[in-house]
Amino acid sequence: MKNIAIIAHVDHGKTTLVDKILNFCTAEAKDVTERVMDSNDLERERGITILAKNTAVEYEGTRINIVDTPGHSDFGGEVERILRMVDTCLLLVDAMEGPMPQTRFVLKKALELGHKIILVINKVDKPNCDPQAVINDVFDLFVELNASDEQTDFPVIYASAKNNYAFLEWADFEKPESKTSIKPLLDMVLKHARDGAGDPQGPFTFQVTSLDYNDYLGRICIGRVFNGSVKVGDQVVLRGENEKGEPTVSKHKITKLFDFLGLKRIDVTEASCPNIIAIAGIEEMTIGDTLCAESVSEALPRIKIEPPTVSMQ
Ligand code: GDP
Repeated sequence: MKNIAIIAHVDHGKTTLVDKILNFCTAEAKDVTERVMDSNDLERERGITILAKNTAVEYEGTRINIVDTPGHSDFGGEVERILRMVDTCLLLVDAMEGPMPQTRFVLKKALELGHKIILVINKVDKPNCDPQAVINDVFDLFVELNASDEQTDFPVIYASAKNNYAFLEWADFEKPESKTSIKPLLDMVLKHARDGAGDPQGPFTFQVTSLDYNDYLGRICIGRVFNGSVKVGDQVVLRGENEKGEPTVSKHKITKLFDFLGLKRIDVTEASCPNIIAIAGIEEMTIGDTLCAESVSEALPRIKIEPPTVSMQ
């Protein structure tokens, strides 16, 4: 299983890229999905153009979870919490504009967490774009941000998300076979993205990264399972915090568990690390809280940091 985040400046093509990845993987899995979904659902899935906060695809037998990162805000440590859910980041950069100040903060955090970075140069269809200059700018940024040697040795792929293709060598840009499919990008993820860390045999540990809500389920908490696994019916401990910032502890039973598939939430009875899942039915659980086995004596760090000052020029 691979957990990846996409880091991109607004308008560099994140939504378009995720949409194309979803379409590719959904088409690949069409035989299976057609059996389990009715045609309305399929139509909806194909026509979708919004970027969900969490997307999950199955590609050549590997589950890939894709999470969105906010471009330039970090209220209450949101960026860091989101980045902790993943092990690899796709740094998506416009082939004409190059890296922008707004992605710098997120990239800095990703590098500090030791994440592997894959550079995706997007919009290479734009006339007069200069991917080589953009790669050099990104490289300089890595050096400036004190990236490790391994991080700085980032793999690069060229893409036109809008035109649904990706390829590995710039020298091949003129070749028609370079412009046939987004598949090389998925192959790149399989080859270079890290497998999600965590001990599947360890005690269950989950941290809430974001919240959703619906009338039927109430509060829905989304986050990563860092260790172990959980089943519906399990007794767990919620390690939270009160208004004064003091730690709180309460016991709960797991009643509703969800996995993600495409843009959908799927009811499941069991989930394990390093998956990104949703848990409903615990109304007092909130962002930053740890839900864990009784044997886990400490909450994961809540991560509260001040919003960054970002230069917008
Ligand atoms: P986001 O803000 O990063 O999610 O960016 P979007 O995916 O919404 O794309 C922003 C704009 O760039 C839209 O008008 C897209 O059609 C366009 N776009 C996305 N990918 C490409 C590409 O590969 N080439 C070109 N020329 N335009 C693109």
